[in-house]
Amino acid sequence: MTRRPLIGGNWKMHLLRADAEAFCRHVQEHGAHPAAECVLFPSAPLLATVARGLAGSDFACGGQDIHPDDKGAHTGDVSGPQLVDAGCSWALCGHSERRQDHRESDQLIGEKALAAERNGLKPMICIGETADERKSGATFEVLDRQLNAALAGRPEPFALAYEPIWAIGTGETATPEIAQKAHARIRDTLADLIGSEAASSKRILYGGSVNPDNAAELIAQPDLDGFLVGGASLDPERFLAIVRCCG
Ligand code: PEP
Repeated sequence: MTRRPLIGGNWKMHLLRADAEAFCRHVQEHGAHPAAECVLFPSAPLLATVARGLAGSDFACGGQDIHPDDKGAHTGDVSGPQLVDAGCSWALCGHSERRQDHRESDQLIGEKALAAERNGLKPMICIGETADERKSGATFEVLDRQLNAALAGRPEPFALAYEPIWAIGTGETATPEIAQKAHARIRDTLADLIGSEAASSKRILYGGSVNPDNAAELIAQPDLDGFLVGGASLDPERFLAIVRCCG
């Protein structure tokens, strides 16, 4: 089955409005690659600016997080209806920095994925092991546990991102072989959960120190369908160079 490559740019807590506007102008002027789908994940205050700036382009906009409830007394959080209202069509669920900084549980991430789906947003569910888990041989066990919990309520997993924590923001990238083994395992587990035909249609993205120099050999792996990019997504030229490796 051919899967259209999907490339996400996770801006984390970076960039200001003027930077975001300049980024969108660059996208509008240079485009990406018609064969690939792209989505930017700016922080909440920039969502509306980015969604507006990307209008009419091939790029979509998504939230870096979503609260399981649609409204209520949850200071600092962002709801599904607010993401939709800001012009988003995607929501990241379970990024490792949310799991670590905010102690998000596997179960909570499943609830967030359901909230995204309920609001018509596409959940991009992030999973990945720590360096210690990999060293102790627990990688597949961790991936299976995170995936089972994230899909417990049976949300439609529009995309999954395999993001080994030891590779995020460290400059240490998984080798293509390591990434492929993890992606193949994720697809097998996904097949057990949603059936093999549905599993073979889902995009599984790799994230962890992706840059224009390592993207081509990673994307050549059969079960790797795109990237979730952090640091290299802050510069439009570097991000578009990665996108063009995926066409
Ligand atoms: C990320 O934050 O999802 C990520 C993969 O970051 P980086 O590309 O900087 O490692």
